[in-house]
Amino acid sequence: MVEGDTRNARVRGMVAGAAVTLAYLAMIFSAGSARVVSTAGASEPAAEAVVAAPVIPESVTVPVLVYHHVRDDRAKEPPGARVYEITLAELDAQLAMLAERGYQGITMTQLERAFAEGTPLPSKPVLLTFDDGRADQYANAVPLLAKRGFVATFYVFSNAIDRPDYFTSAQLREMAAAGHDVQSHTRYHHYLTKASDADLAEELTRSKARLEEVLGGGARVTSVAYPFGLHDDRVVRAAAVAGYVTGRTLLQERAVERGKLLRTPGWIVTGDAAKFARLLDTF
Ligand SMILES: [Zn+2]
Repeated sequence: MVEGDTRNARVRGMVAGAAVTLAYLAMIFSAGSARVVSTAGASEPAAEAVVAAPVIPESVTVPVLVYHHVRDDRAKEPPGARVYEITLAELDAQLAMLAERGYQGITMTQLERAFAEGTPLPSKPVLLTFDDGRADQYANAVPLLAKRGFVATFYVFSNAIDRPDYFTSAQLREMAAAGHDVQSHTRYHHYLTKASDADLAEELTRSKARLEEVLGGGARVTSVAYPFGLHDDRVVRAAAVAGYVTGRTLLQERAVERGKLLRTPGWIVTGDAAKFARLLDTF
């Protein structure tokens, strides 16, 4: 369950009648259901606290960061030349910077719930995503995330599960149990915009089914990261038909919009600390 508040204007909510002042809402969660207590007016007796409807945001401003390999293999090369690699020290420094700036990690599932149910998000959410289901992410990224108290969303292409250099089924279950999201990066990592209709549907549905089977316990896979970020109207429609709610692209946009959840932004970040700081400055 996410704890957080809506005091920050980053979550621009629609509140019917605008009767509720977001600045004075304290969101209290218990037993899976939201209780919203207004603390407006200090003189107001606590007994008159009101229960308001959850706030469904129109858009959420959140950095959606995209990582690939997390390893030191190419550490001697400049970070800007390593688009799909980040060293352990560089990732640790970025997580420290995020924590320093008050960011709290959320998963794609938490973002989905915010749009569907009004589940509150932290005032400064960050969505860390890791693509391709590489073993080095389990060995290197997961411990760093745990050390800094961040959750992340891992996009796995299902054909690679349990193969050398990729996540094992047991690791995926362990990561999900630790609060991370495990979501689909399709089955074979094809260029979806070039796939036949039949292949497109299979890439989306079979990866979803396989991941849900691996995760077990009634887990639902509702997010897809389009391989190479490639998507178009046909791909987005197929993703919706296959049961996905969110689709992560590589579009460099600051806000996730309720009407465009299957075209969610994604910023590939490198180990370049100065560039990373500049990116955060724009949020
Ligand atoms: Zn990929």
